[in-house]
Amino acid sequence: MKTRTKAVVIGGGIAGCSTLYHLTQEGWSDVVLVERDELTSGTTWHSAAQVTNFGMNQTMVGLKTHSINLYQELANDPDYPINYHHGDGGIRLANTEAQMDGYRHFTSMARGMDVEFEVLDAAECARRHPLISTDNMIGGLWDPMDGDIDPAQLCQALARRARKAGAEVYRNTPVTGLTQHKDDTWTVHTTKGDIDCDVVVNACGYRVNEVGAMMGVHHPVMSMEHQYFLTEDIPAIAQSDHRMPLLRCPISDYYCRQEKNGLLVGFYEQDCKTWGMDGIDPKFVNALCPDDLDRVTDVLEGAIARMPALAETGIHTIVNGPITYTIDGAPLVGPIPNKRNAFCIIGLRAGLGEGGGHGWLLAQQIVHGEACYDTWVIDPRRFTGHANVELTALKAIEDYQNEFRFHFPHEHRPAGRPAKTTPITPVMAAEGAEFTVVNGWERVDYIRPSSEFHETHGYYFNEAFDVVASEVSAVQNAVGLAEVNGFNRFEITGADRHSFLNRMICGRVNSKTGKVGLGYLLNHHGMIKGEATLANIDDARTWYGSAAASEFHDMDWLQSNLKADEDVQIKSLTNDQTILVLAGPKARDVLGAVSRGDWSAAAFPWLSVRECFVGIAPATVMSVSFSGELAYEIHVPNAQLYAAYLALRSAGQEHGLQLFGARAVESMRMEKGYLHWKADLITEFDPFETGLNRFIKMDKGDFIGRDALVKRVDAGPTRQLISLRLDTDKLPAHPGASVMVDGRVVGTVTSGDWGHRVGMNIAYAFVEPAFATIGTTFNLDCIGQIIAAQVIASGPYDPENTKVRS
Ligand SMILES: Cc1cc2nc3c(=O)[nH]c(=O)nc-3n(C[C@H](O)[C@H](O)[C@H](O)COP(=O)(O)OP(=O)(O)OC[C@H]3O[C@@H](n4cnc5c(N)ncnc54)[C@H](O)[C@@H]3O)c2cc1C
Repeated sequence: MKTRTKAVVIGGGIAGCSTLYHLTQEGWSDVVLVERDELTSGTTWHSAAQVTNFGMNQTMVGLKTHSINLYQELANDPDYPINYHHGDGGIRLANTEAQMDGYRHFTSMARGMDVEFEVLDAAECARRHPLISTDNMIGGLWDPMDGDIDPAQLCQALARRARKAGAEVYRNTPVTGLTQHKDDTWTVHTTKGDIDCDVVVNACGYRVNEVGAMMGVHHPVMSMEHQYFLTEDIPAIAQSDHRMPLLRCPISDYYCRQEKNGLLVGFYEQDCKTWGMDGIDPKFVNALCPDDLDRVTDVLEGAIARMPALAETGIHTIVNGPITYTIDGAPLVGPIPNKRNAFCIIGLRAGLGEGGGHGWLLAQQIVHGEACYDTWVIDPRRFTGHANVELTALKAIEDYQNEFRFHFPHEHRPAGRPAKTTPITPVMAAEGAEFTVVNGWERVDYIRPSSEFHETHGYYFNEAFDVVASEVSAVQNAVGLAEVNGFNRFEITGADRHSFLNRMICGRVNSKTGKVGLGYLLNHHGMIKGEATLANIDDARTWYGSAAASEFHDMDWLQSNLKADEDVQIKSLTNDQTILVLAGPKARDVLGAVSRGDWSAAAFPWLSVRECFVGIAPATVMSVSFSGELAYEIHVPNAQLYAAYLALRSAGQEHGLQLFGARAVESMRMEKGYLHWKADLITEFDPFETGLNRFIKMDKGDFIGRDALVKRVDAGPTRQLISLRLDTDKLPAHPGASVMVDGRVVGTVTSGDWGHRVGMNIAYAFVEPAFATIGTTFNLDCIGQIIAAQVIASGPYDPENTKVRS
């Protein structure tokens, strides 16, 4: 066994084998995998191993396409062919029009990744799958590449290829400890000796937290018991001239695929069960949980109603095994929060289908610092401090019970809520707030006009449209008050903080006390990494503010780029303070009534910051605006938040102050051309492509990403962010929708909403540069409807910014 290597991958299931193989493909051949028993002896060996191309965003579709292409290549390898049924096709069923709209949206989104799905009516579903009845269904989504693979053969094939490229695999070698050294390298302790390495990867499946504990980390991953059974032969299958397509059913919560001449049917029962919450028997290897078909009777009945042949067929094998879940159902693939040189590929609940792609994206991150797609949807840092085992269990149960029921736009399910609140959350609830969830925070979405008010979730503008319009109108014509909780806030101190920030940000960094600026951080490839508001509070402190979920991500990036001799300290204040936003033409009057000092435009112009009192509450006020109206962000310590709220609420009364929420903010920021991190600001595009030219200063000297950006500018843009006006008032463009010219996809929507002040349906999209000129017309595929759209100038509301400066 080696005693020194570049990377040690811990765990020999699909996650570990795929990572090992892809590390060798990205150029690292001196890598090893250590497995406590035999390869695939965790969950992988007994997986139903379906491999679908279906995903709900382009990153997931792209990584699954990679899996499919790789698995096809492996299956066709004459030296070591493996069993992979691909191209059987698969159907996701639907019995509501809203589900069908979702499928139409996913079809539009996938087309932008060169993946073709098809929306079928019920009769066509039955034609393609002769065993199903069409009762209580209206259609489905067809994935032509759906199939299944032999999981053990797949892992062996990946390990074999990795070995051929120089990697080594040590079986029956449990990892017993991990030690990190001062230079951030690691020693991996195993029962067979120690291995020193630069990088460790946790790929330990349901034992993720045993190995996590060895580095002092608790991952928000836990397991559920999950069952399928295999039937005896079914004559109709034996006599069929083609394999049965796969089925996934959100109506009765089961899946089904052909296995030999019978069926494999798996269940997501409501009466589901967590597993291993109080520890896992060390001898649980190549093992299963006890059968418990009684638990799945509810969903089994649905499966039999759909496939009557099941009622006449015997069951010959039952499999019940642990399957891992995270808080939001997507895995954790990437850097481990608050650790250096440590990565994970965990929480995979569809690891056979996705594993090829996840290992690919992880290896790219390890070797090159970033992957070809923006990986935020699977980034382990997307949950911050609230992600604990109890919350994960609640969300896992909820997710399991809704396995094939995707979330509609604006839908947030109830389990594990509220996770994060502020002192005024109950006050907002009493005001009638409808809450959205942002990184665990309960944030006001809008104020319900009555206690009976109910919003129908779907893809069209709905009952909330007029409510949001009225909140926007209050902000535009009088004054609005909103709580923005969870906003990420670092206090940066030290003599070198300005030069440090100047290196991190690609534009001008204002170091004047009392001034606020907006800056963009690039990665080493010159692509957008982050966005930050920098406020120089006084001569010693700069506040760095960024999106609510970015705390771990941004802290990691800033800390990892600090030089050893730099006098810079970074402290998080994210959970200590909350923002009250006061916005509208009367905002100054309200603030002036509760806070001493001169708040005139001359004394406190746009982009200023000042410490003061709001009533009796200490506050840090910034004149910045995401709404496009005169506005103040009032940062208040949580202990005094209610006091500040009461002062503003009472002073606002005579000016017609109304509460507003995130939905109104979304509408207003679209009208101003403002961008959202991880919607419009992603690592797949550079700041020029993203239209941030005024925030880049190439001649200021060095900054992170500059060299790569120079090369990108020479090569010319691949895409350009544009604003669009849609020719419909029925529905917004949903992120992922395809932008088309003459039936060809030329771009993808990143954000879309109605602009209530300009009366326009606005979307942002990245398109091929040839189509970025104002006035260019397109067709958008919005849930299967072809909507005409035209490129407009970004930020149609008050383009001269007179209101924010007023
Ligand atoms: C019944 C069932 C049906 C499923 N059906 C499908 C499906 O149809 N399609 C699909 O895509 N997915 C399916 N899944 C999910 C899929 O099987 C898993 O996502 C996948 O197998 C997880 O792989 P993994 O490598 O993350 O974990 P594992 O396969 O559990 O591998 C982790 C490995 O780490 C090793 N390890 C742990 N601790 C240590 C240590 N200290 N030192 C060294 N090694 C260690 C373990 O021994 C194990 O081999 C199913 C799961 C179940 C239970």
